[in-house]
Amino acid sequence: MLKGRRIDVLGAGIAGVAAALALARRGAEVIVHEQAAAAAEVGAGLQIGPHGVRVLRALGLDAVAGPLASEPEAVILRDGLTGRAIARVPMGARAAARWGAPYLQMHRADLLGLLMAAAGAEGVAFRFGRRAEAVTDAGALAFDDGSMLEPDILVAADGIRSMVRAQVAGGHAPDFTGQVAWRGLVAADRVGPVPLGPAAHVFLGPGRHLVAYPLRSGTLWNIVAVEERAEWASEDWRQPAEPTDVRRAFRGWCPAVTMLLDALDRPFLWGLFSHAPLARWHKGRAVLVGDACHPMLPFLAQGATMAIEDAWVLAAMLDRHDTSGSAFAAYQDRRKTRTTRVQKASAANARIYHATGARAAVLRTGMRGLSLLPDAMMARFDWLYATDVTGT
Ligand SMILES: Cc1cc2nc3c(=O)[nH]c(=O)nc-3n(C[C@H](O)[C@H](O)[C@H](O)COP(=O)(O)OP(=O)(O)OC[C@H]3O[C@@H](n4cnc5c(N)ncnc54)[C@H](O)[C@@H]3O)c2cc1C
Repeated sequence: MLKGRRIDVLGAGIAGVAAALALARRGAEVIVHEQAAAAAEVGAGLQIGPHGVRVLRALGLDAVAGPLASEPEAVILRDGLTGRAIARVPMGARAAARWGAPYLQMHRADLLGLLMAAAGAEGVAFRFGRRAEAVTDAGALAFDDGSMLEPDILVAADGIRSMVRAQVAGGHAPDFTGQVAWRGLVAADRVGPVPLGPAAHVFLGPGRHLVAYPLRSGTLWNIVAVEERAEWASEDWRQPAEPTDVRRAFRGWCPAVTMLLDALDRPFLWGLFSHAPLARWHKGRAVLVGDACHPMLPFLAQGATMAIEDAWVLAAMLDRHDTSGSAFAAYQDRRKTRTTRVQKASAANARIYHATGARAAVLRTGMRGLSLLPDAMMARFDWLYATDVTGT
Protein backbone atom coordinates (compact mmCIF):
# COMPACT_ATOMS: atom_id res chain seq x y z
CA MET A 1 0.00 0.00 0.00
CA LEU A 2 1.49 3.30 -1.00
CA LYS A 3 -1.05 5.91 0.08
CA GLY A 4 0.58 8.31 2.52
CA ARG A 5 3.80 6.28 2.71
CA ARG A 6 7.10 8.21 2.77
CA ILE A 7 9.70 7.06 0.20
CA ASP A 8 13.16 8.52 -0.36
CA VAL A 9 14.79 8.28 -3.78
CA LEU A 10 18.55 8.74 -4.26
CA GLY A 11 19.41 10.23 -7.66
CA ALA A 12 17.46 12.53 -9.97
CA GLY A 13 18.37 10.89 -13.29
CA ILE A 14 15.72 9.32 -15.50
CA ALA A 15 15.43 6.26 -13.23
CA GLY A 16 15.01 8.27 -10.02
CA VAL A 17 12.54 10.80 -11.37
CA ALA A 18 10.48 8.17 -13.21
CA ALA A 19 10.32 6.10 -10.00
CA ALA A 20 9.37 9.17 -7.95
CA LEU A 21 6.57 9.99 -10.38
CA ALA A 22 5.25 6.41 -10.50
CA LEU A 23 5.26 6.19 -6.68
CA ALA A 24 3.66 9.62 -6.16
CA ARG A 25 0.88 8.85 -8.63
CA ARG A 26 -0.07 5.92 -6.39
CA GLY A 27 -0.24 8.19 -3.34
CA ALA A 28 3.26 7.96 -1.84
CA GLU A 29 4.97 10.99 -0.33
CA VAL A 30 8.28 11.10 -2.22
CA ILE A 31 11.51 13.04 -1.69
CA VAL A 32 14.31 12.85 -4.25
CA HIS A 33 17.90 13.57 -3.09
CA GLU A 34 20.41 14.57 -5.76
CA GLN A 35 24.08 15.54 -5.52
CA ALA A 36 23.98 17.97 -8.47
CA ALA A 37 23.03 21.54 -7.74
CA ALA A 38 20.18 21.39 -10.26
CA ALA A 39 18.55 18.97 -12.66
CA ALA A 40 21.14 18.13 -15.28
CA GLU A 41 21.02 15.60 -18.09
CA VAL A 42 23.86 15.33 -20.57
CA GLY A 43 23.38 17.14 -23.88
CA ALA A 44 22.50 14.10 -25.93
CA GLY A 45 19.59 12.26 -27.45
CA LEU A 46 17.64 9.27 -26.30
CA GLN A 47 15.72 6.65 -28.23
CA ILE A 48 12.67 5.35 -26.41
CA GLY A 49 11.05 2.20 -27.73
CA PRO A 50 7.27 1.63 -27.77
CA HIS A 51 7.52 -0.29 -24.47
CA GLY A 52 8.93 2.83 -22.76
CA VAL A 53 6.56 5.27 -24.47
CA ARG A 54 3.63 3.18 -23.24
CA VAL A 55 4.82 3.59 -19.63
CA LEU A 56 5.44 7.33 -20.05
CA ARG A 57 1.89 7.77 -21.33
CA ALA A 58 0.48 5.72 -18.48
CA LEU A 59 2.37 8.06 -16.15
CA GLY A 60 0.49 10.98 -17.71
CA LEU A 61 3.26 12.29 -20.00
CA ASP A 62 1.13 12.94 -23.05
CA ALA A 63 3.69 15.52 -24.18
CA VAL A 64 5.98 12.69 -25.29
CA ALA A 65 3.79 12.68 -28.39
CA GLY A 66 4.28 16.44 -28.91
CA PRO A 67 6.87 18.51 -30.76
CA LEU A 68 9.68 17.56 -28.34
CA ALA A 69 9.61 14.00 -29.64
CA SER A 70 10.33 12.86 -33.17
CA GLU A 71 9.29 9.59 -34.71
CA PRO A 72 11.89 8.08 -37.08
CA GLU A 73 10.51 6.38 -40.18
CA ALA A 74 12.98 3.51 -39.69
CA VAL A 75 16.15 2.33 -38.01
CA ILE A 76 18.57 1.85 -40.91
CA LEU A 77 21.81 -0.12 -40.66
CA ARG A 78 24.38 1.16 -43.15
CA ASP A 79 27.86 0.32 -44.32
CA GLY A 80 30.05 2.97 -42.68
CA LEU A 81 32.45 3.32 -45.60
CA THR A 82 29.95 3.57 -48.46
CA GLY A 83 26.88 4.80 -46.54
CA ARG A 84 24.76 2.21 -48.40
CA ALA A 85 21.79 0.71 -46.52
CA ILE A 86 22.25 -2.88 -45.36
CA ALA A 87 19.01 -3.41 -43.47
CA ARG A 88 15.96 -1.49 -42.35
CA VAL A 89 13.63 -1.92 -39.40
CA PRO A 90 10.42 -0.01 -40.19
CA MET A 91 9.30 2.41 -37.48
CA GLY A 92 6.81 5.33 -37.77
CA ALA A 93 3.15 4.34 -38.15
CA ARG A 94 4.06 0.69 -38.75
CA ALA A 95 5.82 0.44 -35.40
CA ALA A 96 2.97 2.13 -33.58
CA ALA A 97 0.47 -0.26 -35.20
CA ARG A 98 2.51 -3.38 -34.45
CA TRP A 99 3.73 -2.56 -30.94
CA GLY A 100 0.90 -0.34 -29.69
CA ALA A 101 2.97 2.84 -29.23
CA PRO A 102 5.47 4.80 -31.31
CA TYR A 103 9.25 4.60 -31.27
CA LEU A 104 10.52 8.08 -30.30
CA GLN A 105 13.68 10.16 -30.22
CA MET A 106 14.04 12.96 -27.66
CA HIS A 107 16.62 15.26 -26.18
CA ARG A 108 17.44 13.81 -22.75
CA ALA A 109 16.97 17.15 -21.03
CA ASP A 110 13.49 17.45 -22.55
CA LEU A 111 12.46 14.04 -21.24
CA LEU A 112 13.91 14.73 -17.80
CA GLY A 113 12.15 18.13 -17.76
CA LEU A 114 8.80 16.51 -18.57
CA LEU A 115 9.29 13.85 -15.90
CA MET A 116 10.29 16.44 -13.28
CA ALA A 117 7.34 18.71 -14.07
CA ALA A 118 4.93 15.78 -13.82
CA ALA A 119 6.55 14.59 -10.57
CA GLY A 120 6.41 18.11 -9.10
CA ALA A 121 2.72 18.31 -9.99
CA GLU A 122 2.19 15.07 -8.03
CA GLY A 123 3.86 16.61 -4.97
CA VAL A 124 7.34 15.07 -5.29
CA ALA A 125 9.94 17.20 -3.45
CA PHE A 126 13.47 17.58 -4.85
CA ARG A 127 16.50 18.23 -2.63
CA PHE A 128 19.41 19.22 -4.88
CA GLY A 129 23.02 19.68 -3.79
CA ARG A 130 22.85 16.73 -1.36
CA ARG A 131 25.45 14.04 -1.89
CA ALA A 132 25.07 10.76 0.00
CA GLU A 133 28.52 9.79 1.25
CA ALA A 134 27.83 6.57 3.09
CA VAL A 135 25.11 4.04 3.59
CA THR A 136 24.85 1.85 6.67
CA ASP A 137 23.89 -1.82 6.74
CA ALA A 138 20.50 -0.77 8.03
CA GLY A 139 20.02 1.45 4.94
CA ALA A 140 20.56 4.84 6.62
CA LEU A 141 22.26 7.52 4.50
CA ALA A 142 24.90 10.02 5.61
CA PHE A 143 24.95 13.19 3.48
CA ASP A 144 27.81 15.58 2.83
CA ASP A 145 26.05 18.35 4.77
CA GLY A 146 26.38 16.22 7.92
CA SER A 147 22.72 15.18 8.00
CA MET A 148 21.54 11.57 8.35
CA LEU A 149 18.45 10.02 6.83
CA GLU A 150 16.80 6.83 8.01
CA PRO A 151 14.39 6.09 5.21
CA ASP A 152 11.46 3.75 5.58
CA ILE A 153 12.03 2.82 1.92
CA LEU A 154 15.10 3.85 -0.09
CA VAL A 155 14.93 3.66 -3.89
CA ALA A 156 18.55 3.76 -5.05
CA ALA A 157 18.68 5.35 -8.51
CA ASP A 158 22.25 6.58 -8.12
CA GLY A 159 23.51 5.34 -11.49
CA ILE A 160 26.24 2.97 -12.63
CA ARG A 161 28.66 4.11 -9.87
CA SER A 162 25.96 3.45 -7.27
CA MET A 163 27.12 3.67 -3.69
CA VAL A 164 24.08 1.79 -2.44
CA ARG A 165 24.72 -1.17 -4.78
CA ALA A 166 27.71 -2.29 -2.73
CA GLN A 167 25.58 -2.34 0.43
CA VAL A 168 22.75 -4.24 -1.26
CA ALA A 169 24.63 -6.64 -3.52
CA GLY A 170 28.28 -6.68 -2.44
CA GLY A 171 31.29 -5.04 -3.99
CA HIS A 172 30.51 -5.20 -7.68
CA ALA A 173 32.60 -2.43 -9.20
CA PRO A 174 31.60 -1.96 -12.83
CA ASP A 175 34.02 -3.35 -15.43
CA PHE A 176 35.26 -1.51 -18.50
CA THR A 177 33.55 -3.16 -21.49
CA GLY A 178 36.32 -2.41 -24.00
CA GLN A 179 34.21 0.27 -25.69
CA VAL A 180 34.26 4.07 -25.59
CA ALA A 181 31.63 6.44 -26.98
CA TRP A 182 31.94 10.00 -28.19
CA ARG A 183 28.64 11.81 -27.81
CA GLY A 184 27.51 15.18 -29.00
CA LEU A 185 24.82 17.31 -30.59
CA VAL A 186 25.21 19.36 -33.74
CA ALA A 187 22.87 22.14 -34.92
CA ALA A 188 21.42 21.02 -38.25
CA ASP A 189 22.10 24.42 -39.84
CA ARG A 190 25.82 24.03 -39.07
CA VAL A 191 26.03 20.70 -40.89
CA GLY A 192 24.13 21.59 -44.05
CA PRO A 193 21.97 19.09 -45.95
CA VAL A 194 23.15 15.66 -44.78
CA PRO A 195 22.15 12.97 -47.31
CA LEU A 196 20.06 11.12 -44.70
CA GLY A 197 16.30 10.88 -44.19
CA PRO A 198 14.38 11.31 -40.90
CA ALA A 199 15.45 7.93 -39.53
CA ALA A 200 17.89 6.57 -36.97
CA HIS A 201 21.04 5.67 -38.94
CA VAL A 202 23.57 3.15 -37.65
CA PHE A 203 26.84 3.11 -39.65
CA LEU A 204 28.79 -0.12 -39.19
CA GLY A 205 32.48 -0.82 -39.58
CA PRO A 206 35.34 -2.92 -38.20
CA GLY A 207 35.75 -2.25 -34.47
CA ARG A 208 33.49 0.81 -34.46
CA HIS A 209 30.09 2.19 -35.35
CA LEU A 210 28.32 5.53 -35.40
CA VAL A 211 24.67 6.32 -34.67
CA ALA A 212 23.06 9.54 -35.95
CA TYR A 213 19.48 10.73 -35.68
CA PRO A 214 17.64 14.07 -35.78
CA LEU A 215 16.10 15.66 -32.68
CA ARG A 216 13.75 18.57 -31.90
CA SER A 217 11.95 18.68 -35.25
CA GLY A 218 15.19 18.17 -37.16
CA THR A 219 17.00 21.20 -35.72
CA LEU A 220 19.67 19.03 -34.07
CA TRP A 221 21.62 15.90 -34.98
CA ASN A 222 22.47 13.52 -32.17
CA ILE A 223 25.74 11.62 -32.68
CA VAL A 224 27.10 8.62 -30.79
CA ALA A 225 30.37 7.25 -32.16
CA VAL A 226 31.68 4.04 -30.59
CA GLU A 227 35.17 2.57 -30.80
CA GLU A 228 36.74 -0.52 -29.26
CA ARG A 229 39.64 0.16 -26.89
CA ALA A 230 41.85 -2.14 -24.87
CA GLU A 231 41.61 -0.04 -21.71
CA TRP A 232 40.16 3.04 -20.11
CA ALA A 233 42.94 4.95 -18.43
CA SER A 234 40.98 7.89 -17.07
CA GLU A 235 39.75 8.06 -13.49
CA ASP A 236 36.75 9.92 -14.77
CA TRP A 237 34.25 7.89 -16.81
CA ARG A 238 33.21 10.91 -18.88
CA GLN A 239 35.48 13.67 -20.16
CA PRO A 240 35.54 16.49 -22.74
CA ALA A 241 37.26 15.24 -25.89
CA GLU A 242 39.07 16.71 -28.86
CA PRO A 243 36.85 16.61 -31.98
CA THR A 244 39.95 15.70 -34.01
CA ASP A 245 40.15 12.34 -32.17
CA VAL A 246 36.72 11.19 -33.26
CA ARG A 247 37.26 12.52 -36.81
CA ARG A 248 40.51 10.54 -36.95
CA ALA A 249 38.79 7.37 -35.72
CA PHE A 250 36.20 7.61 -38.54
CA ARG A 251 38.47 8.98 -41.27
CA GLY A 252 37.55 7.69 -44.74
CA TRP A 253 33.96 6.89 -43.77
CA CYS A 254 31.07 7.96 -46.01
CA PRO A 255 30.19 11.63 -46.70
CA ALA A 256 27.27 11.74 -44.22
CA VAL A 257 29.51 10.59 -41.34
CA THR A 258 32.29 12.98 -42.37
CA MET A 259 29.88 15.94 -42.60
CA LEU A 260 28.42 15.25 -39.16
CA LEU A 261 31.80 14.78 -37.49
CA ASP A 262 33.28 17.87 -39.16
CA ALA A 263 30.51 19.92 -37.52
CA LEU A 264 30.87 18.27 -34.10
CA ASP A 265 32.91 20.76 -32.08
CA ARG A 266 32.38 19.77 -28.43
CA PRO A 267 32.14 16.00 -28.04
CA PHE A 268 32.35 14.18 -24.72
CA LEU A 269 34.08 10.82 -24.44
CA TRP A 270 32.52 8.12 -22.25
CA GLY A 271 34.08 4.90 -21.07
CA LEU A 272 31.35 2.27 -21.28
CA PHE A 273 31.13 0.16 -18.12
CA SER A 274 28.90 -2.67 -16.99
CA HIS A 275 28.77 -5.59 -14.57
CA ALA A 276 27.25 -9.04 -14.48
CA PRO A 277 23.60 -9.32 -13.40
CA LEU A 278 23.25 -9.00 -9.62
CA ALA A 279 21.97 -11.87 -7.51
CA ARG A 280 20.17 -9.42 -5.18
CA TRP A 281 18.39 -6.21 -6.13
CA HIS A 282 17.26 -5.29 -2.62
CA LYS A 283 18.27 -5.56 1.01
CA GLY A 284 16.45 -4.30 4.07
CA ARG A 285 14.94 -0.94 3.24
CA ALA A 286 16.87 -0.38 0.00
CA VAL A 287 16.05 -1.39 -3.56
CA LEU A 288 17.99 -0.69 -6.79
CA VAL A 289 16.59 0.67 -10.06
CA GLY A 290 18.03 1.73 -13.44
CA ASP A 291 21.78 1.76 -14.07
CA ALA A 292 22.47 1.28 -10.36
CA CYS A 293 21.00 -2.19 -10.82
CA HIS A 294 21.47 -3.36 -14.41
CA PRO A 295 23.74 -1.11 -16.49
CA MET A 296 24.02 -2.10 -20.14
CA LEU A 297 25.87 -1.21 -23.29
CA PRO A 298 23.85 1.39 -25.23
CA PHE A 299 23.81 -0.66 -28.47
CA LEU A 300 20.11 -1.49 -28.23
CA ALA A 301 19.18 1.95 -26.78
CA GLN A 302 17.62 0.40 -23.69
CA GLY A 303 19.18 1.66 -20.42
CA ALA A 304 16.80 4.55 -19.76
CA THR A 305 13.84 2.64 -21.16
CA MET A 306 14.49 -0.28 -18.79
CA ALA A 307 14.70 2.26 -15.93
CA ILE A 308 11.27 3.61 -16.92
CA GLU A 309 9.84 0.06 -16.88
CA ASP A 310 11.50 -0.54 -13.49
CA ALA A 311 9.77 2.56 -12.12
CA TRP A 312 6.32 1.33 -13.07
CA VAL A 313 6.79 -2.23 -11.81
CA LEU A 314 8.38 -1.18 -8.50
CA ALA A 315 5.53 1.24 -7.76
CA ALA A 316 2.91 -1.37 -8.71
CA MET A 317 4.51 -4.01 -6.44
CA LEU A 318 4.86 -1.61 -3.48
CA ASP A 319 1.19 -0.70 -3.92
CA ARG A 320 0.10 -4.33 -4.04
CA HIS A 321 2.18 -5.91 -1.28
CA ASP A 322 1.80 -5.38 2.46
CA THR A 323 5.52 -5.37 3.22
CA SER A 324 8.32 -3.70 1.31
CA GLY A 325 10.35 -6.94 1.49
CA SER A 326 7.76 -8.94 -0.44
CA ALA A 327 7.20 -6.02 -2.85
CA PHE A 328 10.95 -5.80 -3.57
CA ALA A 329 11.15 -9.57 -4.15
CA ALA A 330 8.18 -9.44 -6.55
CA TYR A 331 9.78 -6.50 -8.38
CA GLN A 332 13.08 -8.35 -8.82
CA ASP A 333 11.23 -11.47 -9.88
CA ARG A 334 9.34 -9.61 -12.62
CA ARG A 335 12.26 -7.59 -13.91
CA LYS A 336 15.42 -9.65 -13.71
CA THR A 337 14.89 -12.08 -16.59
CA ARG A 338 13.94 -9.25 -18.93
CA THR A 339 16.76 -6.86 -18.01
CA THR A 340 19.32 -9.68 -18.18
CA ARG A 341 18.11 -10.59 -21.68
CA VAL A 342 18.36 -6.94 -22.73
CA GLN A 343 21.88 -6.67 -21.28
CA LYS A 344 22.94 -9.73 -23.31
CA ALA A 345 21.24 -8.52 -26.52
CA SER A 346 22.92 -5.11 -26.17
CA ALA A 347 26.36 -6.72 -25.81
CA ALA A 348 25.65 -9.05 -28.77
CA ASN A 349 24.95 -6.01 -30.97
CA ALA A 350 28.52 -4.82 -30.40
CA ARG A 351 29.81 -8.06 -31.92
CA ILE A 352 27.41 -7.73 -34.89
CA TYR A 353 28.06 -4.03 -35.50
CA HIS A 354 31.85 -4.30 -35.28
CA ALA A 355 32.35 -7.60 -37.14
CA THR A 356 35.11 -7.86 -39.73
CA GLY A 357 35.96 -9.99 -42.78
CA ALA A 358 33.97 -13.09 -43.66
CA ARG A 359 31.90 -12.89 -40.48
CA ALA A 360 30.76 -9.36 -41.35
CA ALA A 361 29.88 -10.48 -44.90
CA VAL A 362 27.76 -13.38 -43.61
CA LEU A 363 25.99 -11.21 -41.05
CA ARG A 364 25.25 -8.50 -43.59
CA THR A 365 23.88 -10.98 -46.14
CA GLY A 366 21.54 -12.32 -43.44
CA MET A 367 20.40 -8.81 -42.48
CA ARG A 368 19.81 -7.83 -46.13
CA GLY A 369 17.71 -10.94 -46.69
CA LEU A 370 15.62 -10.32 -43.58
CA SER A 371 15.09 -6.72 -44.63
CA LEU A 372 13.20 -7.93 -47.70
CA LEU A 373 10.58 -9.23 -45.29
CA PRO A 374 9.75 -6.21 -43.10
CA ASP A 375 7.29 -8.12 -40.93
CA ALA A 376 9.86 -10.82 -40.23
CA MET A 377 12.40 -8.12 -39.41
CA MET A 378 9.99 -6.43 -37.01
CA ALA A 379 9.02 -9.75 -35.43
CA ARG A 380 12.61 -10.09 -34.16
CA PHE A 381 11.88 -7.17 -31.82
CA ASP A 382 8.45 -8.25 -30.56
CA TRP A 383 9.91 -9.63 -27.31
CA LEU A 384 11.34 -6.19 -26.56
CA TYR A 385 8.90 -3.63 -27.93
CA ALA A 386 5.55 -5.43 -27.49
CA THR A 387 5.96 -5.92 -23.74
CA ASP A 388 3.48 -3.88 -21.73
CA VAL A 389 4.52 -3.58 -18.08
CA THR A 390 1.61 -1.22 -17.36
CA GLY A 391 -0.57 -4.32 -17.14
CA THR A 392 1.56 -5.49 -14.17
C1 LIG B 1 26.27 6.70 -25.36
C2 LIG B 1 25.00 6.30 -24.66
C3 LIG B 1 23.79 6.32 -25.37
C4 LIG B 1 22.60 5.90 -24.74
N1 LIG B 1 21.44 5.89 -25.46
C5 LIG B 1 20.31 5.43 -24.89
C6 LIG B 1 19.08 5.41 -25.63
O1 LIG B 1 19.01 5.83 -26.79
N2 LIG B 1 17.97 4.90 -25.02
C7 LIG B 1 17.99 4.44 -23.72
O2 LIG B 1 16.94 3.99 -23.21
N3 LIG B 1 19.14 4.46 -23.00
C8 LIG B 1 20.28 4.95 -23.54
N4 LIG B 1 21.44 4.99 -22.82
C9 LIG B 1 21.44 4.51 -21.43
C10 LIG B 1 20.90 5.58 -20.49
O3 LIG B 1 21.62 6.78 -20.71
C11 LIG B 1 21.10 5.17 -19.03
O4 LIG B 1 20.70 3.83 -18.87
C12 LIG B 1 20.21 6.04 -18.13
O5 LIG B 1 20.48 7.40 -18.33
C13 LIG B 1 20.46 5.68 -16.67
O6 LIG B 1 19.69 6.51 -15.85
P1 LIG B 1 19.85 6.42 -14.27
O7 LIG B 1 18.88 7.43 -13.72
O8 LIG B 1 19.76 5.01 -13.81
O9 LIG B 1 21.35 6.87 -13.98
P2 LIG B 1 22.02 8.30 -14.11
O10 LIG B 1 21.53 9.03 -15.28
O11 LIG B 1 23.49 8.06 -13.99
O12 LIG B 1 21.53 9.11 -12.82
C14 LIG B 1 22.03 8.87 -11.52
C15 LIG B 1 21.79 10.13 -10.69
O13 LIG B 1 22.17 9.86 -9.34
C16 LIG B 1 22.95 10.95 -8.84
N5 LIG B 1 23.84 10.41 -7.81
C17 LIG B 1 24.78 9.46 -7.95
N6 LIG B 1 25.40 9.22 -6.77
C18 LIG B 1 24.81 10.05 -5.86
C19 LIG B 1 25.03 10.28 -4.47
N7 LIG B 1 25.96 9.57 -3.79
N8 LIG B 1 24.26 11.20 -3.83
C20 LIG B 1 23.31 11.92 -4.53
N9 LIG B 1 23.08 11.74 -5.85
C21 LIG B 1 23.81 10.81 -6.51
C22 LIG B 1 23.72 11.43 -10.08
O14 LIG B 1 24.18 12.75 -9.92
C23 LIG B 1 22.67 11.30 -11.17
O15 LIG B 1 21.86 12.45 -11.30
C24 LIG B 1 22.63 5.45 -23.39
C25 LIG B 1 23.82 5.47 -22.68
C26 LIG B 1 25.01 5.90 -23.29
C27 LIG B 1 26.29 5.90 -22.50
